[in-house]
Amino acid sequence: MLPITHFILGLILSGGLVYFFDFSLIAGAIVLLSSVLIDIDHYFYYVHKKNNWSLKNSYSWFIEHGKKLKQLDQKERKKIYMGFCFLHGIEVLFVLFLLGDFVSPYFLFVLFGFAFHLMLDIFHNFFYGHTRLDKFSIIYDYFKYKKLKFIEEADGI
Ligand SMILES: [Zn+2]
Repeated sequence: MLPITHFILGLILSGGLVYFFDFSLIAGAIVLLSSVLIDIDHYFYYVHKKNNWSLKNSYSWFIEHGKKLKQLDQKERKKIYMGFCFLHGIEVLFVLFLLGDFVSPYFLFVLFGFAFHLMLDIFHNFFYGHTRLDKFSIIYDYFKYKKLKFIEEADGI
């Protein structure tokens, strides 16, 4: 899902939380920012993989390869991964929960934003017929991706 879509939906969510559930503006802003900025892990993955720090190149790379992935049939798609995203997983939510409990309740707003984002990503993937459950658990993804091919190394891409 594109960052702009995440931003718009995050804005609706955080606006709703502030308006209907008495969240403070700061809390609403943290939820909104977290629901968008979690995707920074895609950028770090790109930097690590391509040794290139350009945010613009990273963005274009993910857009371009995302399109290529969508064109493949289900069987081919299942053999490929596009990137390991270290913030996209339930383990991160668990750490945020602990931080929220022991360090500062503000981490719970980050948790809220991250959880919303992950839920949208999962719905989005299923909507596009991507039946493999990615970006739900970083441990599961880490071991699963080891057995798959990175998109640039797959044939016909
Ligand atoms: Zn995402």
